[in-house]
Amino acid sequence: MRLPTGLDQAKFDTVCTALRKIVGENWVVTAEDRLSAYDDPYSPGLSSDFLPSGAISPANIDELKSILRTATQYGVPVWSISIGRNYAYGGAAPCLSGSMILDLNRMQAIEANEELAYAFVEPGVTYVTLYKYLQDKRQKLWIDCTDPGWGSVLGNALERGVGYTPFGDHAAQLCGLEVMLANGEVIRTGMGAMEASRTWPLYKGAFGPSLDGLFLQSNFGVVTKAGIWLMPEPESFSAVELTFPREDDIVGAVDALRPLRLDGTVPTATIANWMRIAAANTTRAEWYDGKGAMPREAIEKLIGKMGIGHWNMRFGLYGRPKVVAENLKAVQKAFAKIERVDFAITGYHKGETVRPEHRSLAGIPSVELMPLNWLGGAGAHIECPPVVPMVGKEVFELYRRRSELFNTHGFDHYCGLTTTSPRSFINTGSIIFDRNDFAQCKQARELGAALIEDAKVMGLGGYRGHISEMDLIARQFAFNDHASMRVNEQLKDCLDPEGILSPGKQGIWPKRLRESGKDEAK
Ligand code: ADP
Repeated sequence: MRLPTGLDQAKFDTVCTALRKIVGENWVVTAEDRLSAYDDPYSPGLSSDFLPSGAISPANIDELKSILRTATQYGVPVWSISIGRNYAYGGAAPCLSGSMILDLNRMQAIEANEELAYAFVEPGVTYVTLYKYLQDKRQKLWIDCTDPGWGSVLGNALERGVGYTPFGDHAAQLCGLEVMLANGEVIRTGMGAMEASRTWPLYKGAFGPSLDGLFLQSNFGVVTKAGIWLMPEPESFSAVELTFPREDDIVGAVDALRPLRLDGTVPTATIANWMRIAAANTTRAEWYDGKGAMPREAIEKLIGKMGIGHWNMRFGLYGRPKVVAENLKAVQKAFAKIERVDFAITGYHKGETVRPEHRSLAGIPSVELMPLNWLGGAGAHIECPPVVPMVGKEVFELYRRRSELFNTHGFDHYCGLTTTSPRSFINTGSIIFDRNDFAQCKQARELGAALIEDAKVMGLGGYRGHISEMDLIARQFAFNDHASMRVNEQLKDCLDPEGILSPGKQGIWPKRLRESGKDEAK
């Protein structure tokens, strides 16, 4: 356990006593054994660099306000989480050791409106609870979820997470935030700034600047509630799965997909390379027992035996059956240009049971963790995904460069491409390692940094990053001598002058740590 910088044990005990008076005995945790729930479960050997001093869980915004007052009074930083399942990016662990985790999972209110297809959610609402809520109330609304579905709807949307349905861009579905600032003041963004607003969750604009973006991937406030748009249950949908046998098929596949994404025929789509499919279903030892990355011949053998493509694309087509049929024709025509492409199409009408492998396309949450047994041991992964233009040759060039880097660091290249925005992909690339293997952890960290540095050479930046990589990624957003970070820092100093909210998140540090040296504080 690490104490907050500048506090000795006695002072910290005083803080905890004050906090217990606010939330009750059970909702402040400090003993090390009970804090393990807030560890980064997939840490690449860095757990001891990101240690919280404790955790506190408010039941409502009044308690939250008192917590922030106490934190300010004693100079205790708090690290906001909703559920804390931000696996591969740090889980619930804080950027700054000694921070107390501000665990908002007890705030779980949901209020859904079927007529206008939205819900209000508090931070502790998971995909599973929102899904069940809608089912129980027989509201004909779909959610869009990540896999697994036990994370926070709000937390993931704030991190700009993605899913698989037309509502897969989670941040884009946010409409109206309620935010508590460090001084305890509560603001509502957009139309919610009006008393008794009728349109807060319906219209994203405001009379004046939009403040919502300030609180996404941010440490300027604590988001206590959000409006989120939901998808009306479609009359039908078809799950479309395409496989492409050769590595360079990605060029044609991406170029065929792009016009379909741009004109709205295909909503969110994902593309997985061979490794993503193989790692989800098998272990590496089943295919190859040599050291280092799997050679090309072994990969080809795996692809043949598993009956998968080097590339595997998946998306849903949604709407009235006639519309879906028409869109399907356009899809088939577009991809028929690529040699040896294989199609599998599965149609569903409203109310039909969706097969397990297509559930994410219908927003049905699963609670299964991503399989991480590829290398055996205690499987973990980290992610450092860049955003890449939806242009075949650019995607292929990035793929080849990343393959080279994965392989030279001794890893097989895991590649996922998700297009929730019609002009670009988010390129996830899970670095799967055994977290009990010191050498592998080191290699994974080095590969992560190398991928981030190499993406920059191509003019590509990360959309999200592990807590250990946030400073590195933030430094890359350096246009005009880091003008953007300077504005972030001005905002930070203005909205959170004592610097108590999530110091270091996205590379944004409060003034006192910028000046006194955050590295010492860490
Ligand atoms: P999930 O459980 O969906 O993965 P988390 O609760 O782990 O989401 O949140 C992911 C990240 O988003 C956190 O590490 C934190 O930086 C930020 N975050 C989550 N909830 C809030 C919130 N209510 N207010 C501000 N930031 C938040």
